[in-house]
Amino acid sequence: MAGNRDRSTDQLKDWKETRGSQRPDTLTTGGGNPVGDHQNVLTAGPRGPLLVQDVVFTDEMAHFDRERIPERVVHAKGAGAFGYFEVTHDITRYCKAKVFEHVGKTTPIAVRFSTVAGESGSSDTVRDPRGFAVKFYTEEGNWDLTGNNTPIFFIKDAMLFPSFIHTQKRNPQTHMKDPDMFWDFMSLRPETLHQVSFVFSDRGLPDGFRHMNGYGSHTFKMVNAAGEPVYCKFHYKTDQGIKNMPVADGERLASTSPDYAIGDLFNAIATGNFPSWTFYIQVMTFDQAERHQFNPFDLTKVWSHKQFPLIPVGKLVLNRNPVNYFCEVEQMAFDPSNMPPGIEPSPDKMLQGRLFSYPDTHRHRLGANYLQLPVNCPYRARVSNYQRDGPMCMSDNQGGAPNYYPNSFSAAEVQPHCVQSKFKVSADVARYNTDDDDNVTQVRAFYSQVLNEGERQRLCENMAGALKAAQLFIQKRMVENLKAVHPDYANRVQTLLNKYNAEAQQNSSVRVYSRPGVSAVAASSKM
Ligand code: NDP
Repeated sequence: MAGNRDRSTDQLKDWKETRGSQRPDTLTTGGGNPVGDHQNVLTAGPRGPLLVQDVVFTDEMAHFDRERIPERVVHAKGAGAFGYFEVTHDITRYCKAKVFEHVGKTTPIAVRFSTVAGESGSSDTVRDPRGFAVKFYTEEGNWDLTGNNTPIFFIKDAMLFPSFIHTQKRNPQTHMKDPDMFWDFMSLRPETLHQVSFVFSDRGLPDGFRHMNGYGSHTFKMVNAAGEPVYCKFHYKTDQGIKNMPVADGERLASTSPDYAIGDLFNAIATGNFPSWTFYIQVMTFDQAERHQFNPFDLTKVWSHKQFPLIPVGKLVLNRNPVNYFCEVEQMAFDPSNMPPGIEPSPDKMLQGRLFSYPDTHRHRLGANYLQLPVNCPYRARVSNYQRDGPMCMSDNQGGAPNYYPNSFSAAEVQPHCVQSKFKVSADVARYNTDDDDNVTQVRAFYSQVLNEGERQRLCENMAGALKAAQLFIQKRMVENLKAVHPDYANRVQTLLNKYNAEAQQNSSVRVYSRPGVSAVAASSKM
């Protein structure tokens, strides 16, 4: 028997010991008919051909042919786990949502962690933002906080999202990751500077999923029982402590243990080492939002901790692994438009775009009735509405209840106290260009005040190590953008680029592209 066994590699052994005896002992077709032979096709004579009447074979093969559902366009590679949220501090002065009703209240949760750019089979140990999505199964329906391990994002206008993601994916002709695509877009859109600086810093390569923070990232609204709204942001800080991975370890694990982060999470939970995060909010009044120096709905910016201190709320704890990956993780669908009364969207243009895009994707990927799947079902609320039918309806389809509204026969009635808070909008309708907003002040603070000397140097080395693969005119434009952040940032990156470019010219005229299975962002190497 091979050494180095752990709970993930012993899964089949554990299953046999704990659950194996409960499994029915008769092998059946999908239709439940007992099967007499499952290793030999039915043929005319020992050398074939097959008979169409071998329905055991056609039943098996036809289902196999349909095993894959469309992969998520982004966040395809991920891990999931289950647990609970516990309120530790009262925030009912801000929010009436029942999930925050009283100190000590617990709500079941599901969490999915992921990388962003790679395919479902890609490595966990690449430089990339990490998805950190939380589903709260509340008695007022599901609340999905579809966040990341960064408090910001690359862009602030949802119109750019498909193009931005294309630059993280594959070149349309070569089907390879393409540094020109990535850096061309980043350098043309300077609002990406903040997130690019985060991603090329040490935190862009976290050591698994347990040692990183999570953020709701967007600005949301909270509304209290008196109907008074405030704007808010959500932060979940790891109780395991921040731990990042040295670049060399990430590169080694990408080939030797590409599922490193999934295994780390699974083993921790399976051995009772339950990871947790402390949950905070930041709050901004409408009046403060009017007077704030930045657009508080700009997803490329944070709210200063000093101006808007973190307010503790509760704890997220993960204590159960999925029983079946496909059912509970691959089919898990997060949707920022799932919001219980008391939590509402802000005008954040990226959030508004996601309110449409996420459920739209799930209807394509999983089907119109995806909310009936057990992992997505708001099982602590009773769904009662006028939606009916559609492919793969798995419930009783709401039986004989009326399927139109209004009606005279009593069924699902609206709850006026749950109507969203009112807000004023008075503005000219236009497509507003925001690319010349202040894109550098917060990046400058990050570079010069948050990072220490070692972190700054590694950020520059990681960035130059990736940027060197782009064409010279793109490198130049990117360095010009860095100059606007801080001359030291630009100088360090340019100095490294000069060295790498000279080396490349000496060694070969062949441009080095990112390695197979490693994302374009991950092509950064601290040399
Ligand atoms: P603060 O000094 O109060 O906050 C800085 C925050 O940066 C920390 O609280 C920590 O937040 C985070 N941080 C610390 N070390 C690192 C690191 N090595 N890499 C990435 N993030 C780190 O200042 P401000 O709130 O005024 O923010 C200053 C700058 O800090 C911002 O411009 C932004 O770039 C960055 N930042 C701010 C955050 C915020 O929500 N205000 C959050 C993260 C970064 P945490 O513990 O949440 O990771």
